[in-house]
Amino acid sequence: MPKKIIITIDGFSSCGKSTLARQLARSLGYVYIDSGAMYRAITLYFLRNHIDWSREEQVKEALCGINLSFTFNEKSQQSEILLNDENVEYFIRDLIVAEQVSEVAAIGQVREFAVRQQQLMGKQKGIVMDGRDIGTTVFPNAELKIFMTADISLRVERRFKEMYAKNPNVTIEEVKANLELRDYIDSNREISPLRRASDAILLDNSNLGIEEQLEFAISLFEERITAVPAS
Ligand code: C5P
Repeated sequence: MPKKIIITIDGFSSCGKSTLARQLARSLGYVYIDSGAMYRAITLYFLRNHIDWSREEQVKEALCGINLSFTFNEKSQQSEILLNDENVEYFIRDLIVAEQVSEVAAIGQVREFAVRQQQLMGKQKGIVMDGRDIGTTVFPNAELKIFMTADISLRVERRFKEMYAKNPNVTIEEVKANLELRDYIDSNREISPLRRASDAILLDNSNLGIEEQLEFAISLFEERITAVPAS
């Protein structure tokens, strides 16, 4: 059996975590899991079903009706999220979801629900997972942890381009306000706030190209995998 490790990539919104995580997983033949997509899909379910998430009972009941899974889209060559067997990858990227997701993701019951599933997905290792608390809470013993950051202006520009392609009515001010608000809520919530784990490698990609950041991550992987004893 080849040696396998767990790789976690955490950081602020729109730092390019998912781009790096996806490419890294593809290069290594690992599974990529977008944990943010899980919180987004839960938020979409709450919005569609008019769940009042300030009420514990309603949240508890709603979570019982949610089944999350991932499917690999051969055409786009990307993994996409299914909410109760419906592919909701397109809908979870809407601003309406982005505006509520950090509030929903701060709820204890929601985090327990998502973290439990994330930990199961990593049981066999060979996984790259990106998010906010992956290196601190989900896999505190991961062999390789990366914490990403980038200039806020670059992050806003990147996310704006992505969102504008889908909805030309979106404004750069809206996107900036949303990123700043999410970073604030994510960093200040009580449960599993966004933090750099003490053993996470800092990667500021403000001045790095996509190829360069991938090379950097692969070099870290090679260093870590050699240190892992054969099972
Ligand atoms: O990564 P993405 O921007 O899609 O994540 C959406 C939101 O989900 C984040 O702003 C955060 O509120 C929440 N999230 C989280 N923990 C994670 C991943 C995402 O709280 N591990």
